[in-house]
Amino acid sequence: MPEVLFPLDSDKPFTEQEKLGHNRWHPDIPPVASVSPGDSFRVECREWFDGAIRNDDSADDVRHAPLNSVHTLSGPFQVRGAEPGDLLVVDILDVGPIPQETGPLAGQGWGYTGIFSRSNGGGFLTEQFPDAYKAVWDFSGQKATSRHIPGVEFVGIVHPGLMGTAPSAELLARWNRREGDLIATDPQRVPPLALPPEPQDAVLGGVDAGDFDRVASEAARTAPPRENGGNQDIKNLTKGSRIFYPVFVSGANLSVGDLHFSQGDGEITFCGAIEMGGFIDLHVDVIKGGMDTYGVSENAIFMPGRTDPQYSEWLAFSGTSVTLEGEQRYLDSQLAYQRACLHAIDYLTTFGYTPEQAYLLLGAAPIEGRFSGVVDVPNSCATVYIPTEIFDFDVRPSADGPVRIDPGQGAPRSAD
Ligand code: ZN
Repeated sequence: MPEVLFPLDSDKPFTEQEKLGHNRWHPDIPPVASVSPGDSFRVECREWFDGAIRNDDSADDVRHAPLNSVHTLSGPFQVRGAEPGDLLVVDILDVGPIPQETGPLAGQGWGYTGIFSRSNGGGFLTEQFPDAYKAVWDFSGQKATSRHIPGVEFVGIVHPGLMGTAPSAELLARWNRREGDLIATDPQRVPPLALPPEPQDAVLGGVDAGDFDRVASEAARTAPPRENGGNQDIKNLTKGSRIFYPVFVSGANLSVGDLHFSQGDGEITFCGAIEMGGFIDLHVDVIKGGMDTYGVSENAIFMPGRTDPQYSEWLAFSGTSVTLEGEQRYLDSQLAYQRACLHAIDYLTTFGYTPEQAYLLLGAAPIEGRFSGVVDVPNSCATVYIPTEIFDFDVRPSADGPVRIDPGQGAPRSAD
């Protein structure tokens, strides 16, 4: 096992650990450790809400989830010799949940998926699903099952939802400018168009007390993916993946967190993956001048791992860029993917699932999403693919009609 450079104690909150991580992006957040090109090391990660979501049968915790506190990131890790303009080569040697039996991280063995309420984060289908719900998943080896969504068991696709390099001061200023301009177009919108810097609940690692207020007022929120990678939520960044991150600051300052046991493409409920705490083993290297050499002016490139679940049969749903009210939109692929997902949810409810159970399942299971056609005016075509083998009943259409499953207690909803 590689050396643990960022250890965590499961009994302590993020801010009381041996090494203090961060939950904002800023070039002045100092590294917690230094590594050299060619080094391998282990990083332990808190789940993204730092333990605020419980293994119980109420979604009150999701309803009031502390959004200002995300994401609890481990790092930054300084890579000696990396300079702006280089590519940082990051290999994911291994990634997994908190081991259940041994060590200071013992005891999780489960994760959760949430539907955020419209007034606290929202989600991809927040118009249709404005209230908070959750599903708790139990892990057994590679497989996940949920007492809140009966009749389904699937192999997870374990990956970090969030990993990236630190922005330069210039890049950070660009983010704040362009996101601020967007917010200004509709500042009162619920959910908001973007999230401005928020000093409340900012955790900034080893930033000096004298600099804290300035850094907290400038530091970018971690919710969106950006040029540095960040919260890309790419489910295919599994064990074996190699990612090439642009380097914007001396030492690259890599950070990682938001581990997922599984996720469908799009992470559609916003808290749509199976969120968990865990560990990730990384190997780093540097391609000097690689950004220029390979035309990577911004945004990471990557080679996915080869440990995806092996499903061979899929039931797919399609959608086009027409609103539920029947209005024609022009090549709106976001809308087309929403419609494909809604069609899948409508279908699954004919078997007895509640709409919320179906929505949570699409967020959490290893479903594939594609933009199938983006040029055939006026309709984009998006498709979503569900592996049929994850159900313990026949989910395919037939002349006999759908078998009715017992939806059990359903997915817990919040009280308010
Ligand atoms: Zn996540």
